[in-house]
Amino acid sequence: MAVAAEREYGLFINGELTEPAAGETRELTEPATGEQLARVAMAGDADVDRAVEAARGALAGPWGKTPPSERSRLLHGLADAMVANRKELAELEARSVGKAISSVKAELAQGVENFRFYASTLGSIAGRSNPIGGSLLFYSLKEPVGVVGQIVPWNYPLMMTTWKLAPALAAGCSVVLKPDPATPLSALRIAELAAEVGFPPGVVNIVPGDGPTTGSYLVRHADVDKIAFTGSTETGGEIMRLASSPIKRLILELGGKSPNLVFADSNMADAIPSSVWAIYYAAGQSCEARSRMLVERPLYDEFVSVFADTARRLKVGDPLDPETQVGSLISTSHRDRVHAYVEAGREEGAEIVLGGESADGKGAFYPPTVLANVNHGMRVAQEEIFGPVVTVTPFEDEKEAVRIANDVKYGLMATVWTGDPARGHRLARQIKAGTIGINMPYSAFPGVPFGGYKQSGFGRELGLETLELYLETKSVLFSTSPRPFNPFGL
Ligand code: NAD
Repeated sequence: MAVAAEREYGLFINGELTEPAAGETRELTEPATGEQLARVAMAGDADVDRAVEAARGALAGPWGKTPPSERSRLLHGLADAMVANRKELAELEARSVGKAISSVKAELAQGVENFRFYASTLGSIAGRSNPIGGSLLFYSLKEPVGVVGQIVPWNYPLMMTTWKLAPALAAGCSVVLKPDPATPLSALRIAELAAEVGFPPGVVNIVPGDGPTTGSYLVRHADVDKIAFTGSTETGGEIMRLASSPIKRLILELGGKSPNLVFADSNMADAIPSSVWAIYYAAGQSCEARSRMLVERPLYDEFVSVFADTARRLKVGDPLDPETQVGSLISTSHRDRVHAYVEAGREEGAEIVLGGESADGKGAFYPPTVLANVNHGMRVAQEEIFGPVVTVTPFEDEKEAVRIANDVKYGLMATVWTGDPARGHRLARQIKAGTIGINMPYSAFPGVPFGGYKQSGFGRELGLETLELYLETKSVLFSTSPRPFNPFGL
């Protein structure tokens, strides 16, 4: 049987794969090999119009009347279909992104759980009622926001698609989702599975295309009610501008430069392998990658040396090999960008303790890299590198650790390693970030709100709060008095 990656993919509009109006298709490249992967249609403005129209039509049709219990059944059905097709989905994702298949399998499992989590929340969609006084009664209705445009990046295409789709569909919205043009395959397959399990046509539409053209057109579209965007802070700013006329509701999940604080009283046996995972998972191409290690001075030299020795043992290579822990980067141009940052760090005085050599060849590989003696004002400590590169900076005491942790424009995630639980909770209040991990490296679970402070964005994903972001609250007022309400006494 031919693997699905060798297929040709159309756009997914109104319940089926379809040709793009302008006929544009693009050959996708496998980042780990430089070989051709699949041919995919790219959406233009006319296709986005068609997708938005289909999404609007779905709201006016049976989907708009689907009761919560049925939406819950459909979400569980989609989760089951993903499990049944997990081998194909995992391989598609690993080959498209260059990511280790062991990581992709974990992300797929989380994506499945995410659909199940939102399927279980549907009973929580409820308004409230209370008497205002006299004969006046108020109650509120929760209604889907409407047609939602969703834009996802290339680093977690499958998981981000589930993060975006699940709460929107649970709330009863219809969706036009634009994946990154380099990694649209898993989103297209999930849409096909959604149709197979019974989501009505038009509820899920997928329009791969470039950001400044297809994405921008979707954000500006007059018949789209809300935009949920995950991507860089720079593009997030542009999305805010584009979504201002006509005004749209917004969720922005943006970049990060997250710190990993290691105190001298921490348990090194836990802190070292977890800190290695927290930066090198997905080859460092994670928004919440703990890319700045801040280490208390007495532990600093030993920590840097043991950390580098541990990271050296990571198995980097073929994404499809089940033993691989770190795959390739997304492209050779991104690899060159990462290397330019490492060179900039070297020029500013950072010491390269591990990695840092640019690899040639067709595969976009870059070695796990450690930059030590980094002053937190350097570019490598302030800007999002988005690759397997960690900076290490010493600190003298808790106060200085918090100051350095907060001294970046981002605020997505922070991890604190300490043997003193009270210190962990103290820092959880002082660090400005959407998620704080105390003695554990993980960041994202279905049910736990995930999102940013500061320039890392606003809105939350994965939590009950997210469902609220896809609902409007409508207040209904009425008089319980049998007499007509007549405030002017006319
Ligand atoms: P990007 O901003 O370049 O692109 C993200 C998406 O936006 C892509 O689909 C792209 O095609 C689209 N896009 C680009 N310009 C657009 C425009 N003008 N109008 C509409 N759409 C446009 O980001 P990227 O480099 O693909 O992704 C990496 C970034 O995403 C990093 O900064 C990372 O931290 C961030 N990220 C954040 C989270 C989070 O949850 N906070 C999760 C994953 C990634």
